[in-house]
Amino acid sequence: MTIKLPLENCKNIINIRGLSIDRKKKILIFNHNIGKFKFGQIMRMLTKKVDIDGNIHCSYCGRILRADEIYYNRIYPKEVGGIKIPQNLLLTCKRCNNNKGNMMTKFEYLQFINSNKKQKLELKAKVKESIEFYRKEMAYKIPKNWIEYVNIEQEEIKTSLVKLNNNKLKFEKEFYDKYKYLTTPIVINSQKYLLDGVEKYKLARKQKLNNIPVVIIENLKIV
Ligand SMILES: [Zn+2]
Repeated sequence: MTIKLPLENCKNIINIRGLSIDRKKKILIFNHNIGKFKFGQIMRMLTKKVDIDGNIHCSYCGRILRADEIYYNRIYPKEVGGIKIPQNLLLTCKRCNNNKGNMMTKFEYLQFINSNKKQKLELKAKVKESIEFYRKEMAYKIPKNWIEYVNIEQEEIKTSLVKLNNNKLKFEKEFYDKYKYLTTPIVINSQKYLLDGVEKYKLARKQKLNNIPVVIIENLKIV
């Protein structure tokens, strides 16, 4: 399955350099000759949702958020494969973003904020245990139908748009050495441009991994 970005909030992104939208075809178009491709920024802007009352609310506690108070929380945490696409991001306040941590459902988090101190500690320990379980089982917790497996020996993936971050690469290497899989799938578009995860891609090539997990975005075109 390829994932389509929800473009209802696309008016937020028209100020990003190099980015335009084909409203008829519902496609985002990025001109790679203009500006730097900022996957994270584009995904955050697409997630930003202003409610009917003109306000932005925390998705967990409901508090109204000022522009400088907005955090983007991953529903499925990074630790279990949670990528940053609008389908996996929620607008939250700082407190909820910090507190939710690796909890995987809204229910789990609401249970947490309504608990006493002792229960909170117990819940935190339980969450830690389940994350470790998923890591050891080499399992992503994100929906299976988001992921496809691509043989990078056969498929050419274009990487010219993204820059390598050596700290991230170090983190990916350490994670891979310990658990023998990548932290999250890489993200590409249907033209096979790498949109996110250059460090993981580089690591996968170095380790000679064949079938690597990818999430394919259908409606983002690079020109
Ligand atoms: Zn909140």
